[in-house]
Amino acid sequence: MTEQNNCDEREAEHRRRVVRRRRDMDFTPVRNGMDFLHSAFEHLSKRDGEPGARDLKYAVLHLQAAVEVLLKARLIREHWSLVFSDPGKAKRTDYDKGSFQSCTVLGAVDRLNNIVSLQISKEQRQAISNLADTRNALTHLGHTGSVYAVETQAAYVLDFLLTFIHKELQPKLTSEGPYVKTAMEALRNRLGEVKALVKQRSQRLEGELKPLVGHTVQCPDCQQWALVLGDEPACHFCLSRSEPHVAAVWYAENYAATDVLSICPSCGEYTVVIGASVAQGKTAGLDICFRCTTEYTDWRGCELECGMLVDPRKEPLICDPCMTDVAERFGEGSR
Ligand SMILES: [Zn+2]
Ligand SMILES: [Zn+2]
Ligand SMILES: [Zn+2]
Repeated sequence: MTEQNNCDEREAEHRRRVVRRRRDMDFTPVRNGMDFLHSAFEHLSKRDGEPGARDLKYAVLHLQAAVEVLLKARLIREHWSLVFSDPGKAKRTDYDKGSFQSCTVLGAVDRLNNIVSLQISKEQRQAISNLADTRNALTHLGHTGSVYAVETQAAYVLDFLLTFIHKELQPKLTSEGPYVKTAMEALRNRLGEVKALVKQRSQRLEGELKPLVGHTVQCPDCQQWALVLGDEPACHFCLSRSEPHVAAVWYAENYAATDVLSICPSCGEYTVVIGASVAQGKTAGLDICFRCTTEYTDWRGCELECGMLVDPRKEPLICDPCMTDVAERFGEGSR
């Protein structure tokens, strides 16, 4: 064999390897991502009872890994440089070695929308972002959220990913086609199970909240109608807790007719939200104290603008403390 022949052969072998690697790049991440998905489902839908804290942790970790791998697989299909944190500095040799700084998950979502023209909605992007937060909370801080919230979050992202694989990744998979098809069928069944579990749990939550609907409002943290008012307002869905005034401020800024609070005549604190709505009826326009849960709809603000609410039948519309004040001052003046 001549030197030239050797060179040609080496060249051809190199080309083959590159071609093989390129085809691998197309399906290996997908298979990898589906493997993570499968594991996430395993942890979420335990047939023998509820998933424990450890199951939830691994469900979220693996789901997050699946999101990352699958979104990036679609980006790589568009162009390999798009997974670099800075595509302008992308080098093919670095990509082949796998030694580069990759873009973030949300960065991948934005590039898929802006460059590949996919339509990942705001809600889906938010769900992916929430999942990333939960993942970080789990790995770095030790998690405090509820089983309900994590499961609902996970079910939403799972749903998104199955559609994403179906629409964006499956059609162009050649050699992996049969594998992906079978795996997808199994995953869809599991999604059904997880959704059923989530539904079952939210029904249980509904039972728990039923007697409290008169003073349960929408939670600004998780958007569920599960924030029960009282001395320590607590969301039964995401388990966030706060102090009545803080909850009232947060709620008023997000949902109420005005972000100005009023003083509750019975508690004496700035805890009445004007124009709130409670789970019972869900109609807005209710004025309610976030601490003692007294309703003040139709009550009016004190005419001396102290912030206190006054019974509208009262004449003049001046609250008792202001009345006492005026009387004292009048008494001083006439002395
Ligand atoms: Zn909540
Ligand atoms: Zn009150
Ligand atoms: Zn007053």
